[in-house]
Amino acid sequence: MPNKAKLNQKAILTKLLNPVFIAFDKSLTSKKSYIMEYILKPTDLPYLKDLKINSKIEGIYLKYLNLFIKQVETNHNFDLGYLKRNLKTLNIRVSLENYLSGNNASYWLGPNEIATRFNTELSSIFHELFHCLSTHITEDADYSGFSIGLHSKKFEIGNGINEGYTELLTKRYLLLDEWCYKNLVFLVSKLELIVGKNEMEYLYSKGSLYGLVDILKKYNTETEILNFIHNMDLFLKWDIFDAETFNIETVMPSLIYKIINFLVISYAKKIYLRYENGFITYQMYHKKVKTYIKDIYNYFNLSKTTNIELKRRINIET
Ligand SMILES: [Zn+2]
Repeated sequence: MPNKAKLNQKAILTKLLNPVFIAFDKSLTSKKSYIMEYILKPTDLPYLKDLKINSKIEGIYLKYLNLFIKQVETNHNFDLGYLKRNLKTLNIRVSLENYLSGNNASYWLGPNEIATRFNTELSSIFHELFHCLSTHITEDADYSGFSIGLHSKKFEIGNGINEGYTELLTKRYLLLDEWCYKNLVFLVSKLELIVGKNEMEYLYSKGSLYGLVDILKKYNTETEILNFIHNMDLFLKWDIFDAETFNIETVMPSLIYKIINFLVISYAKKIYLRYENGFITYQMYHKKVKTYIKDIYNYFNLSKTTNIELKRRINIET
């Protein structure tokens, strides 16, 4: 065995023997200082007081949990019913599988467990806590945020929107610098402009993809909505690139165009209805849609687009 590999193995073993890895590494200093201060200072965990929490959860995770609840409670859009119910049995632990695979954290719906690589993976743990906040399981299906997993058919839908929105909320409420699924986060932020922030946060916390579809039906057809959800699921598999390295012309351009077309058509319809009902002027309608398209256009660097439908819309609206 080469020396390097030996050293690596030794390092892994040392960490495994000491899995509760509470020393805070340097990367944490880049995160918002209030989180650092909060985590490091002693606290009596006031936000956990009246909640029944699985007694197996370690102290450091209780601190994260306290901070998480403090942040989400300030927002009255969330229904915290499922979170409070899930906390009674939730387990959070460092897992060997996550350590070896390099996966920062995972949330397992059935056993109601968050498994982490280290107990310092703040942004990942908060992301998984949002999954926990939005999950309920019935006889027929798992509902988690905007995803549904049907037990009988081993069929899942909504994971793309769900992962993007989970990360958007993590970024919004925990103010962390590090985040993933960047392109999905961008796309769901545009979706939120159609659905409405209050409604979308509430529906997420209720695990209601149906509610989301209902709102979108005001602006598009059910077939187009289901196609959009499916396309976002496909896009999830591609969202491993940063915006800078994400090349729209080579990475499934037809998929991203379909997603953008859906968003633009639905948004334009929503704003047009506002104009038609006398809430805004025609100029305002025109301006809002133009800004919406331009944001997407700039984000994905679409200046050289060859998509005829998108080109037509951009020409009409700009
Ligand atoms: Zn996730």
